Amino acid sequence: MYIKDLFDKKTVFSFEVFPPKKTSSIDVIYSTLDELQGLSPDFISVTFGAGGSGNSRYALEIASRIKEGGITPMLHLPCINFTKAEIDAALEDAQQRGIENILALRGDINPDIPPVEDFRHASDLITYIKSKGSFDIAGACYPECHPDAENLVEDIINLRKKVDAGADHLITQLFFDNDHFYEFREKAAIAGINVPIEAGIMPVVNKNQIERMVTTCGASLPGKFVRIMTKYEHSPEALRDAGIAYAVNQIVDLVASGVDGIHLYTMNNPYVARKISEAVSGIIGA
Ligand code: FAD
Repeated sequence: MYIKDLFDKKTVFSFEVFPPKKTSSIDVIYSTLDELQGLSPDFISVTFGAGGSGNSRYALEIASRIKEGGITPMLHLPCINFTKAEIDAALEDAQQRGIENILALRGDINPDIPPVEDFRHASDLITYIKSKGSFDIAGACYPECHPDAENLVEDIINLRKKVDAGADHLITQLFFDNDHFYEFREKAAIAGINVPIEAGIMPVVNKNQIERMVTTCGASLPGKFVRIMTKYEHSPEALRDAGIAYAVNQIVDLVASGVDGIHLYTMNNPYVARKISEAVSGIIGA
C-alpha cells in the first residue's frame, strides 16, 4: 500500500524504529516490533545509517518483518555515502521484498567519510527513485530550519525542489513547540508546497535523550519543556510520565489544528508508544 493514499482518508498515525547496533543480534528488535504492530499504526518506518554504522543491512530485514506482521513498512534511504549501484541494490532488494514506501534522504555529512558524489541532495535521490516509477516517496523537512541552510526561507525553497522532484509527502524533524510547526506549515503553503506533512513527535522520557536533544538535533526547547525536564530529571518514572504527557499534549493540539499526520519517534520503546497511542486513539480517529 502506498502511504500517500492514506492522507485523504484520515489523520495518519505512524511509528519510527531504528535497527539494533551491529554488535547485537537482529532478534532483539523482534519483540519490540510485535508490540508496536499490536498498536496498529498506519505504517512503521525503519531508519538506515547514512554510512559507517554497519547495521544498514538490518533495515531491510526489519522492514520485511513489519510487512509480514501486516503493517505497511517505510524504508529510510540516505544517499550521501552510497554509490548509484548501492542505491540500485537497496531499491531492488526493497522491491523484491514488496516494500513500496521509501523516505528518501541525503543523510548527515560525516566529516570522516568523504561524500560519494552520485547523489548530493535528497532531491537528486527523489528524482532517481521517481524515474523507477514504483515507489511512494517521502522526504524530510525541518520546522526550525535544517542546520546547513542559511535560513528557513532558503530551506523551504530547497524543500520545494524536493516536492517538485516527486516527494509525495513529508515528515518533520522533531520539535517541542507546535508554533514552530504552524509557522513552517504556513510558509511551506505560501511556497506552493501542497503535499501532506506529518509532524514528527519525540517523547523525551529519559535523561540521556534530553542531553542528546540539546547537543545534536537543533530543536529549540521551550521554557515549559525545560521546566518539566529539570524538575523530573532525577526521577526516572516521573520523567517518563512527564515526557509522555508532553508528547500527548503536543499531539492533541496538532490534531485539533488539522495536522495531516503524527509520526512518533518511538525510540524502540513499546511502553511509551502504547501509552501515547492509548491516550490519543479517540482524538486521532475523530
Ligand atoms: P536535503 O534535502 O538534501 O537537505 C540538506 C540541506 O541541503 C538543507 O540545508 C537543504 O536546505 C539543502 N538542500 C536540499 N536540497 C537542495 C538542492 N536541491 N539544492 C541546494 N540545496 C539543497 N539520517 C540518516 O542517516 N538515516 C535515517 O534513517 C534518517 N531518518 C530521518 C528521518 C526524518 C523524518 C528526518 C527529519 C531526518 C532523518 N535523518 C536520517 C537525518 C537526515 O538525513 C539529515 O537531517 C540530513 O542532514 C539531511 O537530510 P535531508 O534528506 O533533509 O537532506
